[in-house]
Amino acid sequence: MATDYDAPRKSEEDQSEESIEELKARRHDKNSGKVDEDEAEASESFELPGADLSHEELSVQVLPRQQDEFTCSSCFLVHHRSQLASEKNGQMVCRECAA
Ligand SMILES: [Zn+2]
Repeated sequence: MATDYDAPRKSEEDQSEESIEELKARRHDKNSGKVDEDEAEASESFELPGADLSHEELSVQVLPRQQDEFTCSSCFLVHHRSQLASEKNGQMVCRECAA
């Protein structure tokens, strides 16, 4: 059975019962190879010094709203506290929407 490893896919369709075990073995090989690829790619991108800096800048922008910011309940944009026009029942509205 171990020699069927190199068999082409067409033969798999012909043998209905034995092909399942073949598929299992083949799928296992594929998965392990894929994981290795992903790990290699991830470590490569992390080793770039320039990418590290841009990553940190990006993470700051992606952060959830700060304490001095609020999410407008009308336009759902995040505004600074200074743009808060009204707040009723936890519903905050920015100046643009309140105008
Ligand atoms: Zn708004």
